[in-house]
Amino acid sequence: MHSLIDLHSHTDFSDGTLSPRALVRHAAERGVSLLAITDHDTVDAFSEALPADQALSPGETLTLLCGVELSTHAEPSERSVHLLAYFPDLPPQGFREWLLALQEGRRARNVELLEKLRSLGLDLTWEEVQSLAQRQIGRPHFAQALLRRGYVSSLREAFDRYLGEGSAAWVERDEPSLAEALARVKEAGGLSSLAHPVRITRNTHELETFIADHAALGLDAVECFHPEVSPELSEQLIRIVAQLGLGMTGGSDFHGANKPGIALGTGKDDALRVPEAVGTWIVQQLSGRRTNQEARCSSAHSTKQE
Ligand SMILES: [Zn+2]
Ligand SMILES: [Zn+2]
Repeated sequence: MHSLIDLHSHTDFSDGTLSPRALVRHAAERGVSLLAITDHDTVDAFSEALPADQALSPGETLTLLCGVELSTHAEPSERSVHLLAYFPDLPPQGFREWLLALQEGRRARNVELLEKLRSLGLDLTWEEVQSLAQRQIGRPHFAQALLRRGYVSSLREAFDRYLGEGSAAWVERDEPSLAEALARVKEAGGLSSLAHPVRITRNTHELETFIADHAALGLDAVECFHPEVSPELSEQLIRIVAQLGLGMTGGSDFHGANKPGIALGTGKDDALRVPEAVGTWIVQQLSGRRTNQEARCSSAHSTKQE
């Protein structure tokens, strides 16, 4: 089977539907050999996914990276900018405490979101939304609740009409600036990558300037391979990062049943292939960082059956 690389995936610790262990199991079955879990604002799934007793079949190997996806804001784009961060192991305590503060901002947003939906005449309760989430409540759970109640006929419609940026119940979140997030990731010994850059702007020239500006602020890489990044844009991004001396990352942004049509390792319509060189690069970068950080314990973990 093809050895796939996926550096962008979500578990039920944020808005995915698979548990960390089920995700690792699924990755092994699909032939993913390098996987990063990048839940929103939490790295907690990593420890959960790691246990040595991970039941992989003989011959299966899987290297697991610790990651997180941060929601930030940056000018000139009014939109929320997602930043992926990767670590050789769990990031330091200080960084994890910062993540807890971000989660608090998420909770406050959810309270406001529910109020807004109710004010629009959509009769949802906390219990209902909460029952659809494992841990972190996110907009996909609101979308499911709306679908169950028959207020919308698809998850897509829930986002288009009520939950998406600029739609009827949209609530701005208190987010750190991209510059702050870059500095925090750097300070914590992590590697940063601009997630799905296509969402920042569709204007390639603007995007190039945006990437260059943030490279100067410490951005390490750009997610050049993602289901929303077209092959044409991917080529342009590869050229841009090469000129700036940045790295590349890539992944499916897998959310399980919360994002139907996106397969782990291969994305939409089986079209995604993250080049092997991308995997080699990030593993090297992270193990390099590890040796620079005396107190960190182990490198990218490999789980394999004896
Ligand atoms: Zn994202
Ligand atoms: Zn994501």
